[in-house]
Amino acid sequence: MSNSSILHYINGQMTAGESGQSQEVFNPATGQVSGRVALASRADVDTAVAAAAAAFPAWADTPPIRRARVMFKFLELLNAHKDELAEAITREHGKVFTDAQGEVARGIDIVEFACGIPQLLKGDYTEQVSTGIDNWTVRQPLGVVAGITPFNFPAMVPMWMFPVAIAAGNSFILKPSPLDPSASLLIADLLKRAGLPDGVFNVVQGDKESVEALIDHPEVRALSFVGSTPIANLIYERGAHHGKRVQALGGAKNHMVVMPDADLDKAVDALIGAAYGSAGERCMAINVAVLVGDVADQVVPRLAERARALKVKNGMELDAEMGPIVTAQAHQRITGYIEKGVAEGAELVVDGRDFDAASAGEGCAEGFWMGGTLFDHVTPEMTIYKEEIFGPVLVCVRVPDIATAIQLINDHEFGNGVSCFTESGSVAREFGRRIQVGMVGINVPIPVPMAWHGFGGWKRSLFGDTHAYGEEGVRFYTKQKSIMQRWSDSIRGGAEFAMPTHK
Ligand code: NAD
Repeated sequence: MSNSSILHYINGQMTAGESGQSQEVFNPATGQVSGRVALASRADVDTAVAAAAAAFPAWADTPPIRRARVMFKFLELLNAHKDELAEAITREHGKVFTDAQGEVARGIDIVEFACGIPQLLKGDYTEQVSTGIDNWTVRQPLGVVAGITPFNFPAMVPMWMFPVAIAAGNSFILKPSPLDPSASLLIADLLKRAGLPDGVFNVVQGDKESVEALIDHPEVRALSFVGSTPIANLIYERGAHHGKRVQALGGAKNHMVVMPDADLDKAVDALIGAAYGSAGERCMAINVAVLVGDVADQVVPRLAERARALKVKNGMELDAEMGPIVTAQAHQRITGYIEKGVAEGAELVVDGRDFDAASAGEGCAEGFWMGGTLFDHVTPEMTIYKEEIFGPVLVCVRVPDIATAIQLINDHEFGNGVSCFTESGSVAREFGRRIQVGMVGINVPIPVPMAWHGFGGWKRSLFGDTHAYGEEGVRFYTKQKSIMQRWSDSIRGGAEFAMPTHK
């Protein structure tokens, strides 16, 4: 694909919108422009919201089992086209193809979950709460809801949101990252082919202006956001100001504790994959190895050897382990952090800046490449410890014991994911209980919860009350209504002035 136009998808049609604005989309492996994505104005957002609002009543009235059948058909089409989607992701994001396939597979899990919507929407019923009176609760959809998603999972993160939202009867507007927007349109096409009525799922491409228009629009009832913490915070506050429901998932700094009793081969494997997979551009990537007692002297040399041997290649090569960085700007930001780490006194064990782009494959010399970077003797005051780098940089912190490790992690401003490698059941249990982080792995480096459990961090990694997908997702996209009913046989005559009690 060369210099294609990547459009909005509104009311079942691709449209260029009215803004006349667009921006370049790159193939990060080659550094070449692969297309231009339209950038929506407020007027374009208004058009999308109007389409979604018009589609909502009929969709909300469609029996859940019929909505589920559309999801089943979508699931079938997704499975048939998953590699096409994965290729589009690799082309614009850069992550290796097998990783993009994994991303699509984890998104498919949520679609499978959403196929169970009739069961998930089943209400509660109490017979005879008072003589002749029954009380039940139902959950009804909110209306038009919007999802604003980051560059790093252009298919999976939207799939954390819209399958649950639309299966629950809402209409949905997706605002993807302008860095890798094509996956959103492939998804839109599959939904249409699955029989989803026009207007129920819409895509507005864009950036700040379109996001602000969605937050401010009175017809948009709820906002799901996934991205960096400053923007998550901003969206949460501005959405709350307008009285909207907001779930805003933010940035991360994920630690992995290695205890002296851990199987060190497995711990090193886990660290390498979780730190450098997807070039560290995952909100659940491991960024900090917390090495307890004397394990550091054994672990750091092994990490160094493995980081130097990473197969950093064009993501379409099937043996590639790590692809390029998403943009030249991100490359520059990560390089800046490496410089800061050195300036602040950390020991630079492996320097990814040395990587020769031409070695990544044919046509890659101008791409946004770097190798894996490893720092040792990092301390909690250093910038490379405190801030999210969002690149292939692993920092090692040495601590004397598990109590210090837990305190270190609990003191960090982020609390997305964490892991502990140990063979001790009691250490694992204490760790799971005491750690102030939303998603915990014991001998699991990237503990992304399954579709029916829900995803979300603590502290400044999530603003809002509900996690994404799972039953919390269903609650987020629906509101509870309680109905209390009696029939005239059980209505006693006369006005009652006292607070009604059960009789
Ligand atoms: P980002 O915050 O730059 O962008 C996220 C979305 O917000 C995009 O759609 C973008 O167009 C929009 N946006 C950007 N600036 C905006 C502004 N000023 N006002 C309104 N909207 C704006 O994030 P990113 O670089 O695309 O993604 C990486 C970040 O996402 C990392 O911080 C990562 O940790 C985080 N992330 C978190 C999770 C999680 O579940 N907690 C998952 C994936 C990614």
